[in-house]
Amino acid sequence: MSPLLSVEDLRVRFRTMGPLKALASGVKNPFVDAVCGVSFEIRKGETLGLVGESGSGKSTIARTIMGLRPPTGGTIRFDGQVLNGLAPTERKPHLRRMAMMFQDPVGSLSPRLTVRSLLMEPFRIHGVTGRDPAAEAERLLNMVGLPADFGRRYPHQLSGGQARRVGVARALALQPDLIIADEPTAGLDVSVQGEVLNLLGRLQGELGIAILIITHNLNVVRHMTDRMAIMYLGRFIEVGSTERIFTQPRHPYTEALLSANPEPDPDAVLDRVELSGEVPSLMTRPAGCEFHTRCRCAQGICKSVFPSRAADREDPRHVFNCHFPLSERALAGATNVS
Ligand code: ATP
Ligand code: SF4
Ligand code: MG
Repeated sequence: MSPLLSVEDLRVRFRTMGPLKALASGVKNPFVDAVCGVSFEIRKGETLGLVGESGSGKSTIARTIMGLRPPTGGTIRFDGQVLNGLAPTERKPHLRRMAMMFQDPVGSLSPRLTVRSLLMEPFRIHGVTGRDPAAEAERLLNMVGLPADFGRRYPHQLSGGQARRVGVARALALQPDLIIADEPTAGLDVSVQGEVLNLLGRLQGELGIAILIITHNLNVVRHMTDRMAIMYLGRFIEVGSTERIFTQPRHPYTEALLSANPEPDPDAVLDRVELSGEVPSLMTRPAGCEFHTRCRCAQGICKSVFPSRAADREDPRHVFNCHFPLSERALAGATNVS
């Protein structure tokens, strides 16, 4: 099956200060590479989880896919069409089929608009006419389990969970094929988290929408996603089926992340691995494997040679970048792919 979304070698560089300030403060390289050569695919109806520590570049990937900032390099294809480089008018029909739930549910809703206006905004932006706003808003509110009279409320009158539901309703307005959900459970009580996730899961099952879920919550990834990608300093260091990664992680960083999960998976066979030390700065990336400063398995070569990508022979879609991947048995089955 051809992928719905295909991202190849995506790179995003930010300027950290203006040229004059950089000159005055003697900073030679006033840029950070927030996303460094990321590639992945999402198939129709598939759910991909994206995890990694704060600042690893997850939201930047999401915003770049949605066209909210230009990539520095690489290719973003949606349903076979290359999106980057398209003029806004050419891009618009494709963006109509993609929707984003932003990381900050209340802050991402314009405070001066009622919920009904917010729900109608995607129709206005994409020039979809001939709909009865009241009926449409009611339909969408109903889909996410909110009463019709919520249409008259303003964002500040919503709880975090209600704002999330409005975010889901807005994302569903134009019946997208792909939803990008950036931290869909952040800041919510556990019970409300469950409600929002059940809602997303139900809608995905009923509507066959593909979802990219960005989250710090590994239990969400475990229960909601088919495949997962682990990011470190702007790179994907391991990608594979969620089931396989939770039970047979190959990268020591993945192992540490999973074992630090407060509610570990009962089926997983991981010992607890402490992830010590700070995440290195994007301004001063370590040489070689960028995880070597925190890795319990690091050896001499890790400090100078960047590990190429390897694929597991049993499951070629399970790939990782490590000179000394976990599990000797699987090590014998690993083959270099780049
Ligand atoms: P979190 O889990 O905290 O949401 P994240 O993985 O989503 O983190 P991003 O928001 O994508 O991380 O940020 C990645 C890096 O890019 C960070 O170091 C961040 O400071 C930097 N960054 C993001 N946006 C900009 C910007 N507009 N200008 C400069 N740097 C930026
Ligand atoms: Fe650790 Fe070396 Fe693998 Fe990097 S390449 S994760 S430092 S063992
Ligand atoms: Mg983020």
